[in-house]
Amino acid sequence: MKSKPAPLKSQPDASGRYGRYGGRYVPETLIPALDEVTALYLKTRTDKAFQKRLRELLSTFVGRPTPLTFATSLSKKFGRHIWLKREDLCHTGAHKINNAIGQGLLALKIGKKRIIAETGAGQHGVATATACALLGLQCRIYMGVEDMRRQAPNVFRMRLLGAEVIGVESGTKTLKDAVNEALRDWVTNVQTTHYIIGSALGPHPYPLMVRDFQSIIGKEAKAQIKKAEGRLPDALVACVGGGSNSIGLFHPFIKDRGVRLIGVEAGGKGDALGEHAARFDGGTFGVFQGMASYVLQSADGQVLGTHSVSAGLDYASVGPEHAWLREVGRAEYLRCSDAEALKGVHLLAETEGIIPALESAHAIGALEGICASTKKNAVLIVNVSGRGDKDVAEVARVEGVAL
Ligand SMILES: *Cc1c(COP(=O)(O)O)cnc(C)c1O
Repeated sequence: MKSKPAPLKSQPDASGRYGRYGGRYVPETLIPALDEVTALYLKTRTDKAFQKRLRELLSTFVGRPTPLTFATSLSKKFGRHIWLKREDLCHTGAHKINNAIGQGLLALKIGKKRIIAETGAGQHGVATATACALLGLQCRIYMGVEDMRRQAPNVFRMRLLGAEVIGVESGTKTLKDAVNEALRDWVTNVQTTHYIIGSALGPHPYPLMVRDFQSIIGKEAKAQIKKAEGRLPDALVACVGGGSNSIGLFHPFIKDRGVRLIGVEAGGKGDALGEHAARFDGGTFGVFQGMASYVLQSADGQVLGTHSVSAGLDYASVGPEHAWLREVGRAEYLRCSDAEALKGVHLLAETEGIIPALESAHAIGALEGICASTKKNAVLIVNVSGRGDKDVAEVARVEGVAL
């Protein structure tokens, strides 16, 4: 008889590495700040008052627990039991607020009253500005001017919430340039400032910390599915940008080896480099923005442009824990194209009455293929990471509909 594999512990080592992924690749001046954040963060994990305040805010402000909704029509269509984890019902419309509130509380604990953050599409910027308004923190958001032009309503939202939005003119004037500018600010103002990274990436301890704050998704889902189905699911499905909504759903299930963990990356408009953001299907090992992971880069290490119809999945690298989970064979990753994701928007809207964010629509778009690889009546949980209101105009534009 084959012996049962030992339970898989997905935790970084003392230097923040998951196997060869993760770590810290930052200027020397940031190491003391990262050490301080790490030490204080680890303390908050067992700090009863901190955890109580976090639970209170997640409940009374964010609206948690979010429901697990049975997708009646989709289930019938695919012959599987499909459940939707409703992060679209979080205050501000997506999961990002879970992390922004957690890190905002951490900043208060550290005694840093000034917050900086980067944002691409503006979702993390809005979540951070919201948390700062709630907690009485000063907030500055860095955003590429090209993204500011494309996402003007989110820029206005952040300003309504009292945040200062700084346009970044360097490079391609998009997310990676905003990250670089935020890091530069942090190096200069580290005594007074906490940097809230928006996904499970960057230098240690961010991938760990963001994953922990998002793990509320998987903890709730696990209790909810046990109650609803009387057992664990056969598979979890989530879209993967930096990897925070997916690792948040996956993490509480990692040691349950019978549960498949399936991440869906942005397949964009084609297979050529530059036409997608599928880091695991075109990327190679490299170092980017503070961490080692898979990176979409040229043979000589130049980070390449990416494309996705959804701004939140459009990033050249991916959280290190995902790279490791894939390497050890615990999680699987596949891709969903722009066209399939758009079909996913229509499918969920028409069958279930939920317009998903374009990011989340990648998980829906991949569902038919995933179902085909499972048994009849298999139980699946799909993470609806955000609501689609923010994307309605973009969907109309892409589909050539005048509004
Ligand atoms: C930002 C965003 C994502 C992608 O980020 P992850 O860190 O991979 O979760 C997915 N869905 C929505 C709705 C987002 O706003």
